[in-house]
Amino acid sequence: MKATLKPVIYIAALAAFGLCAYQTKAIIDSPDDPIYKNIDPSVKPGEDFFSYANGTWLKNNPIPPAYSSWGIGNVVTEEIRDRLKKVNEDALKANAAKGTSTQKIGDFYYSGLDTTGIEKAGISPLQAQLSLIDKIQSADDILNAAAILTTTGTRNILGMRVGQDDKNSSKMMVQLGQTGLGLPNRDYYYKTDARTTRIRTDYTDKYLPTMLKLSGWDEQKAIAGAKSTYTIEKFLADSSRKLEDLRDPYHNYNKITIAQLNKLTPDINWTTLFKTLELKPVDSVIVGQPEYYRAVNKALKVFSADDWKAYLRLKLITSYAPYLSNAVADESFRFLGKVLRGQKEQLPRWKRVLDTENGIMGELLGQLFVKEYFPEKAKIRYMDEVEAIRQAYREHIQKLDWMSAETKQKALIKLNAIHPKVGYPDQWKDFSTLNISRESYAGNVIQARHWSYLVNINKLGKPINHQEWNMTPQTYNANYSPSNNEITLPAAQLLIPGIKDEDVDDAMAYGYVAASVIGHEITHGFDDEGRQYDAKGNLKTWWTPQDSVKFTQRAQMLVDQFNGYKVLDSLHVNGKATLGENIADLGGIVLGIDAFKKTKQYKEGKKINGFTPMQRFFLGYALSWLSHQRDEVLANQILTDVHAPAFLRVNGPFADIPEFYAAFGIKKGDKMWLDPDKRVRIW
Ligand SMILES: [Zn+2]
Repeated sequence: MKATLKPVIYIAALAAFGLCAYQTKAIIDSPDDPIYKNIDPSVKPGEDFFSYANGTWLKNNPIPPAYSSWGIGNVVTEEIRDRLKKVNEDALKANAAKGTSTQKIGDFYYSGLDTTGIEKAGISPLQAQLSLIDKIQSADDILNAAAILTTTGTRNILGMRVGQDDKNSSKMMVQLGQTGLGLPNRDYYYKTDARTTRIRTDYTDKYLPTMLKLSGWDEQKAIAGAKSTYTIEKFLADSSRKLEDLRDPYHNYNKITIAQLNKLTPDINWTTLFKTLELKPVDSVIVGQPEYYRAVNKALKVFSADDWKAYLRLKLITSYAPYLSNAVADESFRFLGKVLRGQKEQLPRWKRVLDTENGIMGELLGQLFVKEYFPEKAKIRYMDEVEAIRQAYREHIQKLDWMSAETKQKALIKLNAIHPKVGYPDQWKDFSTLNISRESYAGNVIQARHWSYLVNINKLGKPINHQEWNMTPQTYNANYSPSNNEITLPAAQLLIPGIKDEDVDDAMAYGYVAASVIGHEITHGFDDEGRQYDAKGNLKTWWTPQDSVKFTQRAQMLVDQFNGYKVLDSLHVNGKATLGENIADLGGIVLGIDAFKKTKQYKEGKKINGFTPMQRFFLGYALSWLSHQRDEVLANQILTDVHAPAFLRVNGPFADIPEFYAAFGIKKGDKMWLDPDKRVRIW
């Protein structure tokens, strides 16, 4: 993935052109050139290139109170929110016929802004599910309630989804993974540093009991319920894998029959459970982490019915909190926004509603815009950049001195088979069976989550739809799918805000898109995880053992390099957990450089705003990571994210690249300097 932070920033570059109706071509060679104007001349490139390239912008654009980070993705996002607001307001006024896209958009927006109705409803939209939880007496009741909650998108002890079989990518399978925690991941239950301890204490002593009180329980019951919930979660955390251990595809693949599954967890009747989960009968499943399900089985006996009532009640109310009355939504924000992410205030309601709508029916909104804001010319340009990167990669593979001819041949077959999805889908999702009304905001979310759940599980037994996109065109992100051997590059990730795409020079476009997005995503097919899948997307060894060893030795150098970076207090980057992303960043840049060297602009060598084409390439790449974040977010990212912080995604890989040293005259003694024998080169 390209983006650093979850939740993903929705929305697109669709509106990027809105900023620049008056803009002329002169912008690139003028003081308004985004590359030129962001530079902080007080920082030397060899000291801290990220701050040199982006420093002036960062100084002039502090993080607004309602945000936990701020950067180029936000600039794009804000513009598009404004445009989507107009679409929503128009839809609201249109009073369109029931079942039309306009009706769904307008009515969803109405329900989200109807604060009187939301306050009046209180927690009543959750009543049916709360009653079910209150009636729990036995293990079967717990599982029944857990399954019903799952079908409307409330994560609890069951981590079930339908996805491609890693070893047979043409087949959809039921997959069971670890889940069930309320804090971001297992480390939050163990780490004893002051920052994590403060978060954990707030969680157990304030957030959980307050949420239970808001759900209608008295003080004493709420305090006891919070304790039970934390104890269950800690019990599950004991059998949950670490971030880095989740990245080994073989270790997280256990295909077993239903009979074996019942044996693994003798107190769970999966046949009954699958019926409640609305699944078609299956004969086998893939269990990601068997020890987690063994722990769930044990937990059903260890903890009392009352413990489980509190746990499931909390899972339900915290999962729907943003769509309920202010008291509930505010407490949710206090913990998840303020304590965990350092936000000072909430986003205005309309923005929150829009973001929710984007998550639910983003393609309905996306298709209204792409025609207007992502011209065919831009699509062709970036399709061509994909091919330029692919060609550069071919040449790199052929020249590698550490890989055998046998593995090279298979690598080339895989590279040639990578399928690019660029800009927006050719076939849009069908939302005709999704019901949306003005009646209840939370009610709409329940409906939509169930709809989306059904869309997922109905894929069982059907062929893979290769036309389907897993992101909307207005998403500021991109990805590589190992099972489909394809890259998805949404329009929002390709356009630079404030400048028409046709006016972006190739140096900037090759740094900002070809290296940072396209090269990055394609390299994921050959990172420590992606390389284990073949051209058809199957988990299958195609490397000779010697080549695997040589790859791993090189990758280990990158692990060591990133382990050495300290971010906050005592927090170091997790080199192993971030390895795949760091390989993709490094690969993306070296491929981007060679693809760029073939362009007319590079060959002509003309300076723009005082910078050579190659300097502009590196500055364009740094522009793609223009952002800063609060300490809370950095700390959270180190523990839960497989991406290194933005500044290290520039300074880290650049220190490995000879062209960077040459372009900016980096010398021994400069902070960015790495001794040549420490510089990593994989692809
Ligand atoms: Zn990535």
